[in-house]
Parts: sequence; C-alpha cells; structure tokens
Amino acid sequence: MLDKKFILDNVELVQKNCDNRGAKANVARFAELETNCRELQQEIEELSRQANVVSKSIGKAKDDAEREQRKNEGRELRESKDAKQAELDRISAEAGAIYRSMPNMTHKETPIGDEDASRELRHGATQVRPLGFPVQDHVDLGVQHDLIDLEGGARVAGNGFYFLRNEGALLELALQQYAIEMLVAEGFIPTITPDLARGDIVAGVGFIPRGPETQIYSVENNDLNLVATAEITLGGLYADQVIDEEQLPIKLCGISHCFRTEAGAAGRASRGLYRVHQFTKVEMFAFTLPEQSEDMHNYLCELECQFFDGLGIPYKVLDIASKDLGGPAYRKFDLEAWMPGRGDGGEYGEVTSTSNCLDYQARRLNVRYRTKGEKGTKFVHTLNGTAVAISRAIIAILENCQQADGSIIVPEVLQKWVGKERIGGGE
Ligand code: AMP
Repeated sequence: MLDKKFILDNVELVQKNCDNRGAKANVARFAELETNCRELQQEIEELSRQANVVSKSIGKAKDDAEREQRKNEGRELRESKDAKQAELDRISAEAGAIYRSMPNMTHKETPIGDEDASRELRHGATQVRPLGFPVQDHVDLGVQHDLIDLEGGARVAGNGFYFLRNEGALLELALQQYAIEMLVAEGFIPTITPDLARGDIVAGVGFIPRGPETQIYSVENNDLNLVATAEITLGGLYADQVIDEEQLPIKLCGISHCFRTEAGAAGRASRGLYRVHQFTKVEMFAFTLPEQSEDMHNYLCELECQFFDGLGIPYKVLDIASKDLGGPAYRKFDLEAWMPGRGDGGEYGEVTSTSNCLDYQARRLNVRYRTKGEKGTKFVHTLNGTAVAISRAIIAILENCQQADGSIIVPEVLQKWVGKERIGGGE
C-alpha cells in the first residue's frame, strides 16, 4: 500500500506511475471518494451526537405528546445516520478497491515499458560458449539418467508435477545446502517456513488468495493457502510486530515448497521443469530501515550472482521494466541463466528475482520499527530475493554441464553433497 496522504498530495504523479505500470487505478476518483468519506464521517458523528442529545431529553419531557415527539425526532436522526453509514460503507469499499489496486511507486532508473523494455545490466563471470556437439535438453538428459520423472508426476498429481530421483534428488538437496551455507556465512538466519499461510498474510504480501486469476492454491473450508513462495511466510512472520531499530536489518533465508496454479501461463515455454506447479526455493528476505533498502537490494542481487558464478552457469542481470514489476516492487532485478537446450539453439530463462518493496508490504502487513528515545513507530522496508529456485537451477546445470557423451559434470561446489563429480558416462 502507498501512504494515503502521499497519494492525496500527489494525485497526478501517482496516476502517471499507475499508467507506467499498466495498473488501471483511477487516482482522482480515489481522492474524490476519500474526501466524500471524510465529509460523511463528520456528518455521521454529528447525527450521532444529536441523536444522543434527543435520547437524553426524552426523560425530561413534560408530557406524553412531547415524549412522543422527541422519540420520533430520535428515530429520524438514527434513520438518517444509518442511511449515511450505508453510503459511507459503499464509498469506502470503492475507495478501498482502488487503493489496493495501486502499485508501489517506481525507482527513477527503472525502464518504463513492458517486458521488452527491461534493461540488461551485466553478464556473469562465465561466458556462453557453443558446446560443440548436439545439445540435449534437461528433459532428455533427465530421462536418460533417471533423474526426472515427469510421467510419474503426471500420474500421481497431474501435468506440471514431477518426481526427482537419484542424482536429481541429490542435486535438489545439494542446491539447498549450497545456498544455505553461503547465506549463513553472510549472516542470514536459516529458516524452514510453513508451506501454508492464512489469507490475510498472503494478501498482505501482495498475492490474491482466492478467485479465478489467482496463482495460489487454497484449502477448501479453511482460510489456509499453499504458499507460492517463502516471501509470504517470511514477510508474514513480522506482521503486526514492532521491531527495535537496533535489530535492523533482519536477514532471513527460508526454505519452502512453492505452489503455483500458473493460471494464464498456458502456451508460455514451459517444457519439463521450467514452469511447474510445485518446486522448492531458498528465499532471502530482509527487513530494513528505509535508508538501508537500496544497498540491501544491490547486495541481494550480488548474492544471486555469486551463487550462479559459483556454479559456473552463464547468466545476465536485468533491471525489470515498469509493466513487469507487479504490485509491491519498487525496483526488481532478475537473473536469466543460459539454458542451451531451451528453444531453438538455447535461450536465457529467468532463474532469480529480487525486489525492493520499500514500505509497501510493511504498510499492508503492519510491520513497524521503533527508534530508542523517539515517540511513535515507522514502517520498515522489505526486500526479497531468490537464492535458488531449484527446478530452474537444475535445468541450467543439466543443460550447461552436459558433455559430448551425454554425461553431466556436477558443478564443483555441489560435488560434496551429490557425492560424485559426474552423472553418467564412465563412472
Ligand atoms: P517469483 O517469486 O515469481 O519472482 O519467482 C522466483 C523464481 O522462482 C523465478 O525467478 C523462477 O526461477 C522460479 N519460478 C517461478 N515460477 C516458477 C514455476 N512455475 N516453476 C518453476 N520455477 C518457477
């Protein structure tokens, strides 16, 4: 959520920002409704006051006729107050819907436009180079070495689910260990989060818990939802809490399964593990002071780069364009890794995403901090970033590390957990 006072003081600026981000919010209408709400509230208070005065005067009436007349007067005032209240409820619901549809403001360097306008910032340490032999994609490699069972997943849970087996399962665990080892060394608190969260937490973080367009699976007859990312649970952990300033920044890294309906994603390149309904992710999440969030954002992006440089996977970093930011992000960097088996002759595919949400999520979740010796509290800033989304990292590893004989060299940093240097070939 944006600060309401900021919106009312900057109607044109906020409207321009909504337009830049492709959000259909009518900011002037919101401002008008807010003014109406305030007026109605005052009228309701006044009617309420008058009704009280009349009510108290009934006992002092000198005869039945006057008593009756005051009762009637009181009834009319209450009816008028109820009508105004109904009007206020209707108007505040409309204002609330516009308010919730307003995205965060946008960083001045964010490119304006849709997906294609995203700006390439840099490349990773490893260069893309031709493999020099006929390339297989991760699905073929996964079947050849009995690492990925898509058919089994489809039989048990439907298309978009899979089993990881043998070194496929070990790679998943190794990637988690590698991420956690790196992040604990950086002072992140390792966390295993619930895989379900209440609707208010899901909405507070910026997801739509239920409805036809939701990405979220919900549990029937219950307010619980399967999380799409540990950003939901890690962000929700401090909902309605006040943090002492000295505790900031708080850096958490959470392992969770991620469940996504992928509504509306039909037709987008999604073979194999690329766009699935369930995957595991190690997520970084930070609560910071306002003045710390920009540096923290660059730092989270650095860690994502360090992770993929460590694996020896080529990637590029993108500054994501305004129409692709979603609601909560003020600025977003994505890493796209090179996937030689994707498309015709290889393509980059998104592997991580890190966002600075300023106080937008904190306002919705009501996460505040307190400064010693100062009165009152302020909203923290929140940031999130993917340390590793396992199924996409597995695609990048299998496809980049394949050899002419079909074997796969396990990235050196993962070998201690996978227990071998090579999958298949002359082991
Ligand atoms: P997001 O939370 O949407 O920013 O996603 C974080 C990361 O999770 C992305 O950068 C992808 O690497 C990965 N991801 C997102 N959606 C899927 C999916 N349906 N299947 C597999 N990986 C996904």
